[in-house]
Amino acid sequence: MPKFIRKRIMVTGGAGFLGSHLCERLLERGDDVLCVDNFFTGTKDNIAHLIGNPHFELQRHDVTFPLYVEVDEIFNLACPASPIHYQFDPVQTTKTSVLGAINMLGLAKRVKAKVLQASTSEVYGDPEIHPQHEGYWGKVNPIGLRSCYDEGKRCAETLFFDYHRQHHLRIKVARIFNTYGPRMLPNDGRVVSNIIMQALQNEPITLFGNGMQTRSFCFVDDLVEALLRLMDTPDDITGPMNLGNPKEFTIYQLAELVIRITGSRSAIVFKPLPSDDPRQRQPDIAMATGTLNWSPKISLEEGLELTVRHFEQYLSA
Ligand code: NAD
Ligand code: UDP
Ligand code: UDP
Repeated sequence: MPKFIRKRIMVTGGAGFLGSHLCERLLERGDDVLCVDNFFTGTKDNIAHLIGNPHFELQRHDVTFPLYVEVDEIFNLACPASPIHYQFDPVQTTKTSVLGAINMLGLAKRVKAKVLQASTSEVYGDPEIHPQHEGYWGKVNPIGLRSCYDEGKRCAETLFFDYHRQHHLRIKVARIFNTYGPRMLPNDGRVVSNIIMQALQNEPITLFGNGMQTRSFCFVDDLVEALLRLMDTPDDITGPMNLGNPKEFTIYQLAELVIRITGSRSAIVFKPLPSDDPRQRQPDIAMATGTLNWSPKISLEEGLELTVRHFEQYLSA
């Protein structure tokens, strides 16, 4: 049935991994979607199937510059997320998080839009408490190689809460933990895409450090569902809210699982651990499960199988 009043929703970083899945879900739901991206790590391939849909609009734009559009809701996802990409031009990474947040908040203030920030588990740094709950303030190096991302995202959270207190903006802050799935690029540099690409080509699997550091991996569909639910919560729900899958794995276990799923002949090789690499990460998602009536449905094994299929297509194309 046609909708008479569609919500106008902007997704910054909409041509990226998470953003493209989010744009797709919003269109399926019947919203009008404006995808804003500078294509630093996103690609038109991620959204090619949406182009031509009359309710989808694509705008090449860098969020560090002002943007004047009329929308009802903003999902602010613009920011490179993989360490190799956010460390390529660290000054631009901080600008994207901080100036990007200021511009999106200024825009939200002018048009009275609701605005959601894609924050990150990196705000906890190398955490001293485990699992991490939203009340924990984190242990973050302000001057290290990861700081452009971590401190940029922390400052963005500050801006969101100050616009909320000072200008009464309707805000939602999601602290997203490691998320993976189809449409990660083969050269993305994050661990899931690296290991799958290496396994499928029977190349050595590179584990940084001894592989005993942990992460908790969430499949993209579960994460997008949580973002949609968070945006739709009543105005008094602001977050910050952890979103992720609480099942924790060592990177070594991840590699073993990928080898089994792909039937790979790859050997595991060890490389130096990058500086400030967090030793453990696991979300406490009690707030999300209680508030959003949500919990992740897709196991790492199921999600990896779907992701492996995506990367097989790359290699056979
Ligand atoms: P991604 O790199 O695939 O997507 C980021 C998108 O933002 C890309 O399309 C890129 O071109 C765009 N972008 C970057 N700088 C921009 C700028 N200045 N102006 C406009 N567009 C710009 O990464 P992703 O995994 O899809 O991450 C999306 C968001 O979610 C990011 O903000 C990231 O910090 C956050 N996040 C992701 C994860 C995860 O595990 N995937 C975890 C925590 C937080
Ligand atoms: N801004 C924007 N689009 C808008 C409104 C504002 O990009 O529709 C930018 C504007 O360039 C400004 C920033 O958002 O730098 C913050 O706006 P705000 O109104 O909060 O601050 P001010 O303009 O008073 O500095
Ligand atoms: N990692 C690894 N091999 C790789 C890429 C990453 O062992 O080829 C490790 C990395 O050092 C980190 C973990 O895997 O401990 C997750 O890395 P990723 O870059 O995916 O995310 P983040 O460190 O930001 O959580």
